[in-house]
Amino acid sequence: MTLREGLLRVRAGEAAHPEAVAALTRLAAEHGTPLYVYDAETIREKARALRAAFEPRFPRLGLRYALKANTNVEIVRRVLAEGLAPEVVSEGEVRAALRAGAAGRDVLFTSSSKSPSEIDFALRHDVLLNIDNLDELEQVSAAATRLGTTARISFRINPGVDPDTLHQINTGIPESKFGVHLDGGHARAAYALARTLPALAITGVHCHIGSQITETAGYEKTARRMLAFARELKEELGLTLSFVDLGGGLGIPFADGQAVMTPEDLARALKPIWDEEVALLGYEPELWIEPGRYLVAQAGLMVARVNSVKTTPVKTFVNVDAGFNTLMRPALYGAAHRVRIVGRDGEPMLLDVAGDVCETGDILAEGRLLPRPSAGDLVAFLDAGAYGFVMASEYNARPLPAEVLVDGDHVRVVRRRGTFEELFRSEPEVGSPP
Ligand SMILES: *Cc1c(COP(=O)(O)O)cnc(C)c1O
Repeated sequence: MTLREGLLRVRAGEAAHPEAVAALTRLAAEHGTPLYVYDAETIREKARALRAAFEPRFPRLGLRYALKANTNVEIVRRVLAEGLAPEVVSEGEVRAALRAGAAGRDVLFTSSSKSPSEIDFALRHDVLLNIDNLDELEQVSAAATRLGTTARISFRINPGVDPDTLHQINTGIPESKFGVHLDGGHARAAYALARTLPALAITGVHCHIGSQITETAGYEKTARRMLAFARELKEELGLTLSFVDLGGGLGIPFADGQAVMTPEDLARALKPIWDEEVALLGYEPELWIEPGRYLVAQAGLMVARVNSVKTTPVKTFVNVDAGFNTLMRPALYGAAHRVRIVGRDGEPMLLDVAGDVCETGDILAEGRLLPRPSAGDLVAFLDAGAYGFVMASEYNARPLPAEVLVDGDHVRVVRRRGTFEELFRSEPEVGSPP
């Protein structure tokens, strides 16, 4: 039995199987809880499935990894080793990509709010700046002029497409804060302005319509709009683009048996639209796709330990040693991560898994049918490899959890557990002069 086989059993709903119990018991004993556990092989499988879906259909292709899903350097290194390039949203993520071995030139930096120092840092490393608005465009042009360099830029376009996902992660609808609107000629005007400003090199066009998208329809509509826009740029401004980026957002199943769009489904749906529109366009830009969650979510689970179980007149709560400080998605979006009680297979009962943060909203899983655990049992939250640890905080003065990476039967600590000293290290010494 390898550790990986134990993890796969937990995933598959066999958390009472001796292999599952052995794997999680060992990890929790050696590394403590709450603990993020990642499986390297799952990351490789996902990256390869993405490539296998797109490479045969799109000879001119650029696949990227959106680092914000998981910025751990060992995770980023493994994704980049599969032939993906980094897509980042901050200077810290540019630095994370560089640390993982990427060249600045290969990094795409998208954010709706870049500070002057972030712009300078990106320009010094020849990062491709994905411009969000005209104010930012003028700042980038001025900064590149001042630094004596040429800024490679694209624009993030708001294509006005609703892919039917959670409101908080729906980014390409007209009321979203992101990008330059395609409708009303705003996007065309942005490219026209960019051509007149000094120290800019226009490269491509970008959009990202949202996250956890489970059907192809929104991408199909977006692809048509983006390629029609490329045609408009060619015909009216004489511009040719080196890439058209359709963003990330590929969803994953968050429930047992839930069917969602696969990369294969998406590539197959995009292919005829792409070919048709490229024929009209008269040249073929690279197709870029930049998933985050798809590549890493299923590789991760968060393990917590049960502190106590209590039945109130209304509900039964399983109080665990993790909370929204450790896994924020349930509190932030109402996201439902599957929960597995390790080593129990009793009659399921209705349980709420409650976090250890002193806030009413700190419920990690609400109203689930699960076998009743006892204090000391382990609980695993599935699909926590994306937007899990990266959103963790020290709220309630709790040190950050550890992260470990399992590769077959080998385990490596890829981020050691936070300490109480670290909670206070940036504060003044007690008793130091004001
Ligand atoms: C967050 C983000 C992504 C990745 O989204 P996923 O849903 O994790 O695939 C890609 N591109 C941009 C611009 C993003 O902000």
